[in-house]
Amino acid sequence: MLRRQAKDFINIDPLQTGGKLTEEAKEALLEWGDGYSVCDFCQGRLDEIKNPPIYDFVHRELPEFLGCDVARITGGAREGMFAVMHALAKKDAWVVVDGNAHYSSYISAERAGLNIAEVPSTGHPDYLIKPEKFEEVIEETEKKGEIVLALITYPDGNYGNLPDARRIAEVCRARDIPLLVNGAYAVGRMPVKLKDIGADFIVGSGHKSMASSGPIGVLGMRGEWEETVLRRSSKYKNKEIELLGCTARGASLMTLIASFPTVKKRVERWNEEVEKARYFSSKMEEIGILQLGEKPHNHDLMFFSSEKLFEISKRAKDGRFFLYKELKNRRIHGIKPGLTRHFKLSTYGLSKEEIEYVLNAFREIIEKYEG
Ligand SMILES: *Cc1c(COP(=O)(O)O)cnc(C)c1O
Repeated sequence: MLRRQAKDFINIDPLQTGGKLTEEAKEALLEWGDGYSVCDFCQGRLDEIKNPPIYDFVHRELPEFLGCDVARITGGAREGMFAVMHALAKKDAWVVVDGNAHYSSYISAERAGLNIAEVPSTGHPDYLIKPEKFEEVIEETEKKGEIVLALITYPDGNYGNLPDARRIAEVCRARDIPLLVNGAYAVGRMPVKLKDIGADFIVGSGHKSMASSGPIGVLGMRGEWEETVLRRSSKYKNKEIELLGCTARGASLMTLIASFPTVKKRVERWNEEVEKARYFSSKMEEIGILQLGEKPHNHDLMFFSSEKLFEISKRAKDGRFFLYKELKNRRIHGIKPGLTRHFKLSTYGLSKEEIEYVLNAFREIIEKYEG
């Protein structure tokens, strides 16, 4: 059997904390593991399969959850971004993205043949994306060519900053530029509704934030975009071109559906997650490990900076791997091997006891090497 080394560790890897399967999803994974299992009763369109209840999920549950008119399943957040960009792309046109955007936003834009204009953040130490800056960059870019889309990362995957997406949506709306909200770290963790923000598209990631095995994502949009983004093949009349006909067609989708009742409930307890993150951040700062990004913080993903750990790494026996090894010895997983000076972590889903355990581990490690 292929064993996974860190399976039973306390996991603080931001990529992984929101994607841990529920018990229901684990069962679904086994039940639906065979290839194309969901297609037993398919009549030609994935989202219209009634048994298993994909139709109800895609056409009723998801739009309600995302606060949008129309929703679809995608291969992941990036596939959602690419589908929208590709559908809206025109020759020599531009997409405006925030400076904290994920690499896959850039790559999606490149693949769609769009020019990319970047809205710089405020830089060290907060890295905020300001609506005024967004406006400025839009105005400059409009002089160069047509802007077919703007994208805001909400929150970004480096600092966990939540920009003022509503104000940014107003800025875009005033210029008739559709806005895509990349909610890879929001959808399934915290309450977020497309209509409350006032944007046009939203994408989420099942394996990152919706307790799913993945790869899988969700895409929501305003009704007015349906015809453009979900236009159909001329030959295969019910196949949507940007989705290549069908997206996730198997166990990944069933884990998403199986976890959904739990996911819906957990977003309502979001304030507890924010409190835990803030507590964790304040205690880390007490031992000289500083949190960058928004403060007080509004998300479980946090970026830390520590000269102390960096100094230790220069003289520790294991060098820059000392932190990884010390944490591993304490059965804590999630900080990349070799990082000491800058690293990110997530407290999502950790119990209060686990939070204390992780904090204590950092205290012990520093004491061990400084004492
Ligand atoms: C993880 C992440 C993605 C990519 O998500 P996938 O579902 O794996 O495509 C995109 N954007 C942000 C901000 C992310 O953190």
